[in-house]
Amino acid sequence: MTGLRGHRKRVPGGDRIFQRIFTRLGCQGRPPQFLVDFHPYAGLTHTVRLRGDTAHVRLSDVLRRAPVSIIESAAAILLGRLYRRRPPGDLLDLYRQFAQSADTRAKIMALRRGRARKLDLHPSGSHHDLHEMYGALNERYFSCVLPNPRLGWSKRSWRSQLGCFDPALNQIIINRMLDRRDVPDYVVAYVLYHEMLHQKHPVKFERCRRASHSAEFRREERQFADYARAMKFLKHFSPGRR
Ligand SMILES: [Zn+2]
Repeated sequence: MTGLRGHRKRVPGGDRIFQRIFTRLGCQGRPPQFLVDFHPYAGLTHTVRLRGDTAHVRLSDVLRRAPVSIIESAAAILLGRLYRRRPPGDLLDLYRQFAQSADTRAKIMALRRGRARKLDLHPSGSHHDLHEMYGALNERYFSCVLPNPRLGWSKRSWRSQLGCFDPALNQIIINRMLDRRDVPDYVVAYVLYHEMLHQKHPVKFERCRRASHSAEFRREERQFADYARAMKFLKHFSPGRR
């Protein structure tokens, strides 16, 4: 979510910090004017865009109360990328320590939880009720032991993913392209069941990746009653078509 127009979250002294690092990295030419804002990215993401004489910098607001040295190291990484300069090793080390600290991780998690809570997920959908479906699947395949997740349809259509489980938020989102009358119940149930298996088999990475589908995962997946039918339907289902 972005703030009101004209009410941006300027980073105090951000322009001076970026000017300083510009000089320290030995970047060529006249430095641009730096507009440095905090931005509510989902994690430790920072971006810079050069438009004419102005560099628009967005720092993750995880850095909001970080010491100046961390803002400097983020600046060195961004400007290093923009001007193809190698950031100083001491700044890189500093940033790495900051990014990997338990404190920072906890902060990112708290920010994400706070933002997720504000999203209204509407699990009932127009044609398929995920909430009801989840209860039935949990009872039939998992003896009701899976903890109820936050459940919902994606806000926009996804091109390449049918569903996604986010363990940090205990949240399952299903591609809204499946919320259609001509998509059978058992297809939506299969996609949900697949994400529930991710709930049951925790993996190190948060995203739904091939590496997270172990042999055991695949075996359990095939226990879904309509597995073959669902696979057949999905083979010809192209989310991008409608
Ligand atoms: Zn998966």
